[in-house]
Parts: sequence; structure tokens; C-alpha cells
Amino acid sequence: MASFEDRKTNGVIFNVQKYSVHDGPGIRTIVFLKGCPLSCLWCSNPESRSAKPQPAYNKGRCLGLDKCRRCLDICPKSAVSPGPDKSVFIDRNVCKFCETQVCASVCPSQGIITYGQTKNVAEIIESVEQDSVFYSRSGGGMTLSGGEPLAQPSFALALLREAGKRRIRTALETCGHVPWEILNEAAGLLSSILYDVKHMDSAKHKEGTGVGNESILENLNKLLCKFPNLPVLVRTPVIPGFNDSEENAKALGAFLARHANAGFEALPYHRLGTQKYAFLGLDYPLGDISLGQGAAETFQHIVDRTRA
Ligand code: SF4
Ligand code: SF4
Repeated sequence: MASFEDRKTNGVIFNVQKYSVHDGPGIRTIVFLKGCPLSCLWCSNPESRSAKPQPAYNKGRCLGLDKCRRCLDICPKSAVSPGPDKSVFIDRNVCKFCETQVCASVCPSQGIITYGQTKNVAEIIESVEQDSVFYSRSGGGMTLSGGEPLAQPSFALALLREAGKRRIRTALETCGHVPWEILNEAAGLLSSILYDVKHMDSAKHKEGTGVGNESILENLNKLLCKFPNLPVLVRTPVIPGFNDSEENAKALGAFLARHANAGFEALPYHRLGTQKYAFLGLDYPLGDISLGQGAAETFQHIVDRTRA
């Protein structure tokens, strides 16, 4: 595809986070793309799941219906109505995630905001390039995250190509549940990749994420064999009671023992982002399960020892 066409390619993002020192080497700009084929119970970015922009209601910022009623009658689908205690109720079965998001645009206090914006590649790269000086000094660059960035394949690949033309190093955070052809093309454009493995048992994987792990492990195997020089960091978010067993850690260690070129990092469970479930009218599926202090360190130790 010509650069001109890449620059015009549109996609839906929900955040651009600058000066990050996580999610890849050096100082990075993280571009969060909307849309994900998984529905992990512990997901800290519930606004990433839908591929479309969507309204979110924050009661704490709403002025209250005794002071403001701007959003009530403006929705073309009549999805907004009075809720309890002078609050607003957005009927998610009626809301069509309309393009205009007028409910959010008329709100004076960010009581309703929109998660997600449509942007083209040129707009994103212009924002990413503003920090080139930090990338060159630190070995950083742009990281595509989500959601699952490759769930918008044309947009994600165009972003990677355009960054490559500008000599911006690129990283990708992926759940791996994507067609191999897309992952293969992305890998050829990347400086590094962060690849999540949530459970080695497919049935358990499906319980926690909504899908089995067959294609995820097969893609990882192909990636590590075909791109031996691409830095690959396999990561597991360690969720108490779901995947923190010794058996699971040993199975992952045995898998990684066949791939010396892969790094591994166990990530501790956290509850950041639970407030966003309420903003979207959703319940947080894990309730108040324990944080599992030390579980990630133990998991890391067992994986490292098994693959040694
Ligand atoms: S996003 Fe559109 S359809 Fe949904 S509540 Fe707001 S105005 Fe109505
Ligand atoms: S427009 Fe905003 S402040 Fe006014 S009632 Fe709606 S959500 Fe509340």
C-alpha cells in the first residue's frame, strides 16, 4: 500500500498515552486501539472491548437533573432517561453508539463522555512524532495496545508502516487471538512484541477469556520460530484462583523451554479500571477477589525454574 493511502487510513482509538516507561523499552507513546476478540474477566480497559465509540456516564461529575437536563431529550434513539437520585440512565440496549454522540457533546461537566475517537494514521503519527527526541535518547518508540490492536488490521498495519518510514521503533501488545497472516505481517514491521498467554489449559482459558487458547499458542510457536531475532516478551497477568496454580506455571515453563529467544514476565493482578465498568453500566466480573500478594513473583519463579 502506498504511504499516501496509509496516512488516510482511519481507525478507532480510546487513548494516546505519552511518556510511558512500561509496555516496551525506553520512553514510549502508547496508542490504545478499540476492539478485542477476548472478554477477560479481569480486563482493566472495559472501554476497549467494543470496536465503536461509546458513551460513558460518570454520576460523580453529572450536575444532577435538578440543575441540568441537557442530555435527556437530545438522543435520537431516546436512550437517555432519568435515573435514581437525580441521575441519568443510558439504556445500553437502545443506545446505538451513534457517530455524533450528542449526549456527550451537550454535557457541560463531563457527566457523559465518549470512550473512543475515530482518527487517521497521519493524525496519530503526528502526535507520536512530537516525542521523537525522547525515543532516540531512550531506545523507546510507539507501542500499539488495546483492546487487541490487530482487531483493526488495516489501521494497525498502516500505523506500523508509517512509523517505520519515520524510523520510529514499534512495539505491539497482543493477545495473540488473531489470524496468523495478520500477525505475520505485523511481526515484519515490529521492533519488539509483548505477547499475552493467560492460561495453558484451553478450557480454563475459555472460562476466563471467552475463547480457547489453541490459536494463541500456535501463533506464538510460529512467531518464535519464524522471527528468531525479534524480541518477544511473553506475559501472564497472574489472576488469583484462575491461573496462579503451580501446574499452569510449569506447563508454561515447559512450553517456553523450547524457545530460548522468548522473555517472560508475570504481571500482578490489580483492580485499576474497575470504576470504568460502572461508567459503562457494567458489573465488574471478579467482584472483590483477593489481590494475591506475591502470586506473580511465585509464578515467575516457577516458570523460570521450569524452563532453565
Ligand atoms: S451515543 Fe447516541 S444513541 Fe447513544 S445515548 Fe448518546 S446520543 Fe443516544
Ligand atoms: S448533560 Fe451532563 S450534567 Fe447535564 S444531566 Fe446530562 S450528564 Fe448530567
